[in-house]
Amino acid sequence: MARRSMRLVEYGKPFELTKEEVPTAPKGGAVVKNEYAGVCHTDAHSADDEFSGLAPLKCVLGHEMAGTIVEIDPSAELKVGDKVIVYWHGGCGGCSRCAVGETTACLKDVKHWAGITEDGGFSDYVVIPDAKLLVKVPDTIAMDAACLLPCSGITAYNAVCNMVPTVQDFAKHSADCAVLLVGAGGLGLWGVQFAKQLLPAGVRVLSADVDEEKLATAKAAGCDEALLWGKDVDDDTAVAAAKKACGSLGGAVAAIDFVNVPATFGRIEKILVQGGMHVVVGLLGGDAPGSVPLMPYVLSRHQMAGVLMGSLPQLKDLVALMAQGNVKPPPISHHPLENVYDVLQDLKAGKVKGRAVVKL
Ligand SMILES: [Zn+2]
Ligand SMILES: [Zn+2]
Repeated sequence: MARRSMRLVEYGKPFELTKEEVPTAPKGGAVVKNEYAGVCHTDAHSADDEFSGLAPLKCVLGHEMAGTIVEIDPSAELKVGDKVIVYWHGGCGGCSRCAVGETTACLKDVKHWAGITEDGGFSDYVVIPDAKLLVKVPDTIAMDAACLLPCSGITAYNAVCNMVPTVQDFAKHSADCAVLLVGAGGLGLWGVQFAKQLLPAGVRVLSADVDEEKLATAKAAGCDEALLWGKDVDDDTAVAAAKKACGSLGGAVAAIDFVNVPATFGRIEKILVQGGMHVVVGLLGGDAPGSVPLMPYVLSRHQMAGVLMGSLPQLKDLVALMAQGNVKPPPISHHPLENVYDVLQDLKAGKVKGRAVVKL
């Protein structure tokens, strides 16, 4: 059995097409025949070595995988022929956090990350060292959409899960609650739909973005009110308009920042009601200067949660939610394996609409 792989041979340079025998499954592991592999900004960062060697040379990138099991340890729960997605954030497997599927918080900080630290999806076959990281996909979910769930899908899902307890608490005592989602790109659109599914009925979902077109798609995805935060809108105006849109409580009971630059952070802090939940997701502020104003968090009793992906149990919950058919994936374009590096360049240049996936 042979596989074609697009390997990272030099940072910042096109991948190399290699052909080799497919390795056999290790004890406790599996081999998956990839059907689709999502092309993600993280792959661009890995290919350009922005993670300082986290993705080693000779590695096959691509961490968003959906395919069929062709070999698996006989003791595993899943069987050959099962359609699966890969929870790509493997940890040490032995610590108490890994034991409950919270491998992104592995206490030993071990990173077995398929498609970053180890061979991943830009290949016909992938070897998964731990079969427990595979999640079965029901027939009601298209496989090209399924491959997106372990990355953008689960991140937005986890972000919404983080606000659920606070929103439920407020909604018990007020019929007029609103939440704010900042950023109406890919994550934001998942977020709007998950918020509508997971939050108590009647909670209004507000979406803010600098782009009018993106806000229109957020509306189509179910958001109740769109807030245009264009370049000509100053902080005071943006905050006042958002608070007004939030209704009788005069502010949002929870907010998710999918952008996370100092400006959005500061606005959210002012828009949240006392005791509101501030969920921070976006990495765009990674290099941004500025500091977090701590006192308002004390005086306004704001809570804050940082979100990096989600857990393995959450991915299983997300698959069950998607199987109900009420959440629509973003528009998806298919590309041949050989073109994956060019697709990455298009992604970096902002030329990819919706999500691009490699069809194997
Ligand atoms: Zn990704
Ligand atoms: Zn661990």
